[in-house]
Amino acid sequence: MSLYKGHIAGGFFAFILYILVLVVFFAFKPTYDVLIWFGLCILGSIWPDIDTSSFAQKLFYGFFIILDGIFLLSGHFKEAALLGFFALLPIIGKHRGWTHSISAAFIVPSPLIILPIIKPELHVGGLEYYIPVVIGYLSHLILDKQFKLY
Ligand SMILES: [Zn+2]
Repeated sequence: MSLYKGHIAGGFFAFILYILVLVVFFAFKPTYDVLIWFGLCILGSIWPDIDTSSFAQKLFYGFFIILDGIFLLSGHFKEAALLGFFALLPIIGKHRGWTHSISAAFIVPSPLIILPIIKPELHVGGLEYYIPVVIGYLSHLILDKQFKLY
């Protein structure tokens, strides 16, 4: 089993635990939104390996280039520049560097809780989307045994 499949399995397991906690302790009744949460958790579980040649790097940079092209073609040059800048950050430094830190697990998905505050008209993000990404991200760090506080 290749490395990313192990992280997807870890993200899947962590997500099942998260939903069980919500159902057992908070009387949560699952809706179709859970499928989106699940997808976000899986993306979070593979994100840290964006810093090396990997499935995650191909997936996320493929998405970045498509999104950047859409920004450029639609005249959103500021957004294109910001995306380009932030997309460079994971490939600066060594593998299992800052992308494999606990602080990154909480900071990287933070646009999901910041965007609804600064751009509520986009109807994107929220805490219910942020938490599954953090859970997936932390599952990756647990499997990689990478608990660093910087
Ligand atoms: Zn990793």
